[in-house]
Amino acid sequence: MANLTYLKNVVTLELFSDKCIGCGMCVTVCPHSVFVINDRKARILNHNACMECGACAQNCPSDAISVRSGLCGCASIFIRERKHGRIMRYFFKAWGYPV
Ligand code: SF4
Ligand code: SF4
Repeated sequence: MANLTYLKNVVTLELFSDKCIGCGMCVTVCPHSVFVINDRKARILNHNACMECGACAQNCPSDAISVRSGLCGCASIFIRERKHGRIMRYFFKAWGYPV
């Protein structure tokens, strides 16, 4: 799973290093090995591997991670399955993304 990537440069994942306490929870819960711990701080190893599941942000005890869950996986469907384009545009609009 660690080698999977989604759309490049669209992932909403953000890490606020100043808030990170280096607990390693994000490394533990991330299914795509996006994070590593380096010098007692989380670092993003592969931004584009993030599937925006939201597990890291939900489990971070210091609110050091922000991610808008759900966009990237759906975006890949939008690209792969053009017949669903109208449906996905509806959801993108509902989520507040420009379409
Ligand atoms: S879960 Fe949050 S506080 Fe813990 S290492 Fe990751 S970013 Fe830092
Ligand atoms: S949102 Fe999911 S895939 Fe992305 S970094 Fe967090 S845990 Fe990993």
